[in-house]
Amino acid sequence: MTNLGNGEHTETIKIEQTEVNKCSSCGGNTVFNPTSGKLACPFCGSERDIEVTRENTIENDFLQALEQEDHSWDDEKRVFKCESCGAETLLDKDKAADFCSFCGSSHIATSEHHAGIKPALVLPFQLTKDEAMEKFKLWMKKRYFAPSKLVQSYKLNKLSGAYIPYWTFDSKTDSSYVVQIGTYYYVTETRTVYEDGKPKQVTEQVRKIRWHTDQGRYSEFFDDVLVKASRNVASGLIDKIEPFHLNGLVDYKMAYLSGFLAERYSIPLKEGWGDAKGVIDYRIENGIRGQVHGDVVNIVSVSTDYDKITYKHILLPIWISSFHFKTKVYRFLVNGQTGKVSGKSPVSAVKVSFVVLLVIAIIGVIAFFVDFS
Ligand SMILES: [Zn+2]
Ligand SMILES: [Zn+2]
Repeated sequence: MTNLGNGEHTETIKIEQTEVNKCSSCGGNTVFNPTSGKLACPFCGSERDIEVTRENTIENDFLQALEQEDHSWDDEKRVFKCESCGAETLLDKDKAADFCSFCGSSHIATSEHHAGIKPALVLPFQLTKDEAMEKFKLWMKKRYFAPSKLVQSYKLNKLSGAYIPYWTFDSKTDSSYVVQIGTYYYVTETRTVYEDGKPKQVTEQVRKIRWHTDQGRYSEFFDDVLVKASRNVASGLIDKIEPFHLNGLVDYKMAYLSGFLAERYSIPLKEGWGDAKGVIDYRIENGIRGQVHGDVVNIVSVSTDYDKITYKHILLPIWISSFHFKTKVYRFLVNGQTGKVSGKSPVSAVKVSFVVLLVIAIIGVIAFFVDFS
């Protein structure tokens, strides 16, 4: 991780920032172009390569990070907080936020919070804003019950490209467990049944379970367990546009965020590890079940040592639009890598009533002909 106390490093960042922001031909501010994967100048059209690297093999030590707060991203980013939904947005230091991408509110102010841990890896946008808009229009066309006014007037200008924060964790685990193993056996039982009021003896095979307790050890190394670091108002919709293909992750560079915003993680590192541990514990239980042989296996207890816990802060791309209709906010999300769509739209009471009445009328007509045929 970047050492903030290191003056030399701050210098490097400054140079990089100038290089990233300015077009070498006309001096305009360049933005990341998802189609070419280059930095493009919207003024003169010239493009510049970004050196794509995937060398980040450095895993950051988790326990060390808990002791010492990491603010390494502060030298690049400024934090804005939405006063309506609480989401925190990170922008380049020379930029200001005018509305919140997650709820559309314009009540947004600079936050006291640090930008925090600099991301290790980023999944660059592959879908352009125009492509995301096309997805939105297609999706809107299928909202048959959406009010006509909305279909005509949705505010596409509020479509923003946002990088959403995630944590990934690695850990070497060693568990000792106690299990109850059940083995099936069959006994022949005789019982009396009544046939036409007469008693009759029948024998049958009945399955029983013989239990014994066992214990053992289980070890597994977990690599890149992914958990969300965002609890913004659109979190539920983000689940629906997953998965992201993480083989597209590259080393974080400022250039990938040029023209885009990033959300500050609202789930702190420590809490993120709690979530990852839940995933890991579940996989350990499955691993133990695979290792123990029996017809039925009940896990009595598992005690795990989590060793060499390391983490990475990573960013994944989404296009998001929040639109107001009457008094409510509706959201629409597109996966910035795959184009998968998810959203909620208002429903027109008039349109729904019309369809209900139409269905009643059709049933009435069918009933009429059935009666008189
Ligand atoms: Zn230019
Ligand atoms: Zn907001």
